Parts: sequence; structure tokens; C-alpha cells
Amino acid sequence: MKNNPWVRAQQQLFKIAKIAKLPPLLTARLQEPDRTVLVSLPIKRDNGKIEVFSGYRIQHNNILGPYKGGIRYHAKVSMDEVKALAFWMSIKCAVANLPLGGGKGGITVDPKNLTEHELKELTKVFARRIAPVIGPSVDVPAPDVNTNSLIMSWIVDEYSKIEGKKTLAVITGKPVDKGGSLGRTEATGFGGGYVLLEVLKHFKKSSKNLTVAIQGFGNVGYHAALFLHNNGFKIVALSDSKSGIYRQGGLDPDEVLKKKKEKGIVDHCYCKGSVCDMKHCKKISNEQLLELPVDILIPAALENVISGKNANKVKAKYILELANGPVTDDADTILNKKNIVVIPDILANAGGVVVSYYEWFQNMKNLRWSKEKVFDKLQNQMKTVTRDVLSAQKKYKVSLRDSAYIVALKRIEAGFKLNDSLH
Ligand code: GLU
Repeated sequence: MKNNPWVRAQQQLFKIAKIAKLPPLLTARLQEPDRTVLVSLPIKRDNGKIEVFSGYRIQHNNILGPYKGGIRYHAKVSMDEVKALAFWMSIKCAVANLPLGGGKGGITVDPKNLTEHELKELTKVFARRIAPVIGPSVDVPAPDVNTNSLIMSWIVDEYSKIEGKKTLAVITGKPVDKGGSLGRTEATGFGGGYVLLEVLKHFKKSSKNLTVAIQGFGNVGYHAALFLHNNGFKIVALSDSKSGIYRQGGLDPDEVLKKKKEKGIVDHCYCKGSVCDMKHCKKISNEQLLELPVDILIPAALENVISGKNANKVKAKYILELANGPVTDDADTILNKKNIVVIPDILANAGGVVVSYYEWFQNMKNLRWSKEKVFDKLQNQMKTVTRDVLSAQKKYKVSLRDSAYIVALKRIEAGFKLNDSLH
């Protein structure tokens, strides 16, 4: 039960409900999702065999606005996992001060085992099954683990076919030439950068030459590395799912990306003796990366990577959670005791859903914003909400994670009171 993500989510809710003195009717509303949808997805594989997959769409609550949250494709997707993720989206959207509720979806499938044609068929069946419960002012999905803009465009096409009209605002995270917003790709990594700068400012710490280790070199990890590199931080370690590299003198994220593209793996940037122009690199494992003596550690890949087992070995002074749920509850307690500042996922990685909101807004109003405008608005929004979380921390004398929950639940409470009769 302890590792059941939904039980964890509920415990977090009850803990904060007590501190923030939430009305019991609101806690009761949030302790279960408004609606859970389980769909059956039969497809014909390319070899002619029939296979049936399970899909989910969970609508946690829509007190502040339409349900909002991604769709993940993963072999471990389960009802309880998606319920917890939908709850965390409610909290994330509220921390970020967006007029949105929380939702999440998923299919239990390892997409690497399907051909593109099979993946498209599966996505289209899923879109048809959830079409009756989604819509621009009802529930707006987006990408998450193992889904991307191409998959989002398939869902828009299928939904639009059912509606009989092009309905761009039903999904965010679309390709830019198909109604997506400029800046959505960079949003999560850059958003995390703006949050970190604000937190450092609060602690009166200059970012000049602070050392950084980043676990995960996908879209989020790469853009965080790029942002921090361009803002005077020294990126000393990077890793992908296979392994990582360490360079005391600092790494240039674009160089590493170039080499990763050439060789398919981050640690191939480190070639003893010749070929590679990145001298003085050392190969490290993902576990070693987490224990490096750096100023800032950024888990930007998987869940539960910092646990009761390794939290004691973490030497960083700040942890910026760009992945969803990279620190377990046990680890959180240990890190707090060690006075390590943990900037929680619901704040740190909210940049993604913030620009999703901008995309939805542009689609609804038929607008096209420039990249500069998107980054400008994102920067303002992330800095303002970070300050909100920092002042709640001062007021309630709790961890940053707890203060982010308090800020979020107080915002949901204000919306709840406003629409009391509609609960
Ligand atoms: N999947 C992302 C998240 O966990 C983005 C969600 C969205 O843009 O709706 O925050």
C-alpha cells in the first residue's frame, strides 16, 4: 500500500487539508476523482493478430476550469497511477495559477513494441472511446511519458472527424504547424530554470558558476541544461537512460546533444584518447550522478530515483524536480533533515502545462503568439507563482513541497466557495 501512488496522493491531500483547514466538503470532493473512465482498445496488429489494450482517462476535478493533463503510454500504466497523476495535475495547475482543473490519461502499452501504424490505430481507437468525455471546454489532454506532438495530432484529427469540424483546442502539445504553440517544446525545461533563479534569489545566492548535474537528457533535461548553461551555471554531469558523463570543467549541452545524435548514447561523447573532441570527460552511472558533490541536482527522467536507500548520499544543496515524483516520501524526510532545498515537481515542472494553457488560449481566440511573447509570459508567471510558494513557506513554516500544496489547495478552495452550489 505504501508505494501505491494513489494512496500517497490521498495522504498528501489529508495532511495539507488539515494544515490549510480546508472545508470538509472540498476535501471529500478531492479525495476521489470526479470521473474515472476505463476503455477497452482492440486493434489488429500488422501480423493479423488481434490484441486488446486498456486505456484510462481520469478527471480529477474541474473547480478552476476544464480538466487538464497528459496521456502516457507505458507498460506500467494502471488505474491507481493515473488517478494519482490526475490529482497532481489539479495541484500543479492550481499552483501555477491557471484557470484549469486536473486530469490524466494513459494506455497500458510499451509503445516500443508497436509499429507506427499500430500505434496510430491504437491512438485513434483511444480517441474515439474518450471523445464523449473530452472537449475544449471540458477536458483537454496533452503529451506525457512516451507520447509526443505527432500522437497529439492523430487525436485532434480523430476528434475533429467525430465533431465534424476542426477542433484544435481539444488537445495541447500539437506540432507548431498544426496549431501548436511556439515555445511549448522548451517550456518545461525553461520554466524550471525560471523557478530555480527565483528560489536562488530568495536565498541570496548568485547563480554564477554553481555546478549542476542533470539526470535525463530528453526534451526536458536538454532544455533545462541549455537554459542553465546560458545563464552562467556550470553543467558538470548529464545522463540518459543508459549512462552518463561527468566533466569538472563543464559541459556544453549542444555539443553533448550533437554527439548523442551521432552516436545514439550520451556517454559515447567520452572517447578515450581520440575521435571525440570532448576531452577530460569521465563516464558515470545514473546512480553515481545522483550522489555527485554539486550545488544543484536535477532529476529530469524517472519517478522514485531518490529513495530511502540513496537520499543520505545526496550531496547537492538544491534539488529541482523536473520529473514527476522523482523523490519518494522516505527520501523527502531525509532530505529535509539534511536541509537540502527540494523544489517540488508541481512547481518546478509546471512550465509545460503553463504553455499548454497558452496554446489552448491561442487556439480558442485564433491567435498566434511569437516565441518571445510566450517566454516573456512564462517567465513572469513562473516567477510570480514561485514567490507565492516562498511566502506561504514563510507563513506556514513547512517544506517547499507542503507550501506549494497549500497555495494550490487555497486557490481551489477560493474557486470552490465561488461555485459552492455547483459542487
Ligand atoms: N504531461 C505534462 C505534465 O505532467 C503536461 C500536461 C499538459 O500540458 O497538460 O505536466
